[in-house]
Amino acid sequence: MGALIEPLARLINELSKLPGIGSRTAARLAYHILGRDESEVRELARAIWQAHKNIRICPVCQAFTDVTPCAMCSDERRDRSVLCVVSGPRDVEAMERTREFRGLYHVLHGVISPGDNKGPEDIRIRELLERLRDGAVREVILATNPDLEGEATAMYIAQLVRPLGIRVTRIAHGLPVGSDLEYADEVTLGRALAGRREM
Ligand SMILES: [Zn+2]
Repeated sequence: MGALIEPLARLINELSKLPGIGSRTAARLAYHILGRDESEVRELARAIWQAHKNIRICPVCQAFTDVTPCAMCSDERRDRSVLCVVSGPRDVEAMERTREFRGLYHVLHGVISPGDNKGPEDIRIRELLERLRDGAVREVILATNPDLEGEATAMYIAQLVRPLGIRVTRIAHGLPVGSDLEYADEVTLGRALAGRREM
């Protein structure tokens, strides 16, 4: 990129750090941004900055929120005896789309992945166990992805939760092995939830 003028090279460099954005896409986006009106670009920059500044992690469920605790955790109509454990914030949206689940969530922010040097202490398992201490939760549904790491993570958590006298279930394998929960359609995911099994 030696021939590029410095501000453009810097923009391309920053964009290429985003997930799924290679250097070619980064360049395409950068040139697109250059062609937009100043007000639009200002709005884009502001949206990124504001989202980052105002969105925090809910101290209860660990989901992203702009209020503490999050709207879901403070919703009295939700069933506080069932907890659905998911690996990422977008899985919460996927589960909500099924309209089958009325309990609360716990977001792990990742899965146990020795290949990526991610151990149990690197995801929000400690916060989950902390949450279970008051005895209000009767069932923990493990809804990590049906892939190797998702299964291993579910197994690990089940071993910790079962001794607490809490029912531990795993969403059924209606989902194709290796599939991503967040991209599952709501009917399939709803069925997987309804067909959950004891672990
Ligand atoms: Zn919350």
